[in-house]
Amino acid sequence: MTSFNDFGLAEPILRALVEENYTTPTPIQAQTVPIVLTGRDVIGIAQTGTGKTAAFALPILNHLYTKRMRPERKSCRVLVLSPTRELSGQIADSFRAYGRHMRPLAIELAIGGVPINRQIRGLAHGVEVLVATPGRLLDLVHQRAITLNQVEILVLDEADRMLDMGFINDIRKVVAMLRKERQTLFFSATMPGEITKLADSMLTKPERVAVTPQASTVDRIAQRVILTEKSAKNDLLVETLKTETTDRVLVFTRTKHGADKVVRHLQKSGFGAEAIHGNKSQNQRERVLADFRTGKLRILIATDIAARGIDVDGVSHVVNYDLPNIPESYVHRIGRTARAGTDGIAISFCDHEEAAFLRDIQRMIRITIPSVDKRTGVRPAARPADHHQASNRPNRGRFGGNGGGGNGGSRNGGGGNRNGGNQGRPNRGSQGHGGNQPIPRAEASAGEPNSIGSVSFLQRTGNRPPR
Ligand code: AMP
Repeated sequence: MTSFNDFGLAEPILRALVEENYTTPTPIQAQTVPIVLTGRDVIGIAQTGTGKTAAFALPILNHLYTKRMRPERKSCRVLVLSPTRELSGQIADSFRAYGRHMRPLAIELAIGGVPINRQIRGLAHGVEVLVATPGRLLDLVHQRAITLNQVEILVLDEADRMLDMGFINDIRKVVAMLRKERQTLFFSATMPGEITKLADSMLTKPERVAVTPQASTVDRIAQRVILTEKSAKNDLLVETLKTETTDRVLVFTRTKHGADKVVRHLQKSGFGAEAIHGNKSQNQRERVLADFRTGKLRILIATDIAARGIDVDGVSHVVNYDLPNIPESYVHRIGRTARAGTDGIAISFCDHEEAAFLRDIQRMIRITIPSVDKRTGVRPAARPADHHQASNRPNRGRFGGNGGGGNGGSRNGGGGNRNGGNQGRPNRGSQGHGGNQPIPRAEASAGEPNSIGSVSFLQRTGNRPPR
């Protein structure tokens, strides 16, 4: 599919797409839209930023347009479940944008952290589309504000995050309330075993589509690793912020507590920094994000979950204060910079305990990330092989390298792991340019196809009708 016209979507939807300046379907859209239009179930393996929302929203809107009927009171025809408030808001905005020429079209958002009464009123007459986080949806069901037996299409978005956030039981409860004759669209960035089990229990003869963000995003980002002691990370962050020319900096920590500690340290050191994470109220999160968007706040500390689905342009630096243990999260994090076609810089602090995470990340992105060693403790002796082939081997010492089965060694041209790294572009292996066998993926993505072409993240544009 090279054009949206080829899908046979209804005219009001095509008109909205023209207004959105969408000319070419993204790979996930090209694969998913035709299948959804036939009414089949879909498992889509794709991350936010690939155009996934439109991949399901467009054919769903087409269904609503061609099979017009009034939703019953306190019911919805389409239910979209998403793990976070931010992502839910963006999905609802997307439905409103693509459906802006369709009348009538009621789209309601049911998320926690805001008063429930407005949502109860919004559902009273029934809606076409309800976008919800699982907890608030169940609250609404318990308050008899909505029944779910009219749902024709169910979308489960970011299923793997739902698992991380402990929502799987809630989802099972919701699914049990739905009728069996429905269409189900299931999206996840990774397919660990439990997610595969969940999908099997929810879907009927699904078609599988997949896109994996790979080289094209990573390619534009100058990545660096700084090997450090855990206890030195706070000072290293301050030093980094002082020496780098930054615009907006997004710092990732593994835990909420860690995020708060970093904020305190930065504030003590004279930097304006704030954190967003699940313990903050919705109002706080929105205020902090708004400040970050406008540039009033230049340093934002976030956990993976809080940052999921947040689109802010103009992030010059992503700093991984802690390395993620899931390689896909690394790609997702660094994809926050280099949006809208700009270049970005990603700096990762890696302590001893994170060496294995770094190895998994490098294996997945097929790049040996240039590293600088700032450890003050005893260093492991260099292995003879490092001397012989230092110029064209990846770092195979205690930190970095591709370890485990020699998968990466000879694939990475350029080596260069002790190059000071400051302007280091990633060292790309030959398969980054297509052709070679992919390296097996890490556990977290078990079951995920590993030979999908490259896909870039897209910029979320602000051209939305008012909510
Ligand atoms: P998503 O992965 O759904 O969060 O989409 C990421 C961003 O890409 C959103 O801001 C969309 O507005 C934008 N987008 C989605 N599809 C297209 C397309 N075909 N052409 C241009 N932009 C798109």
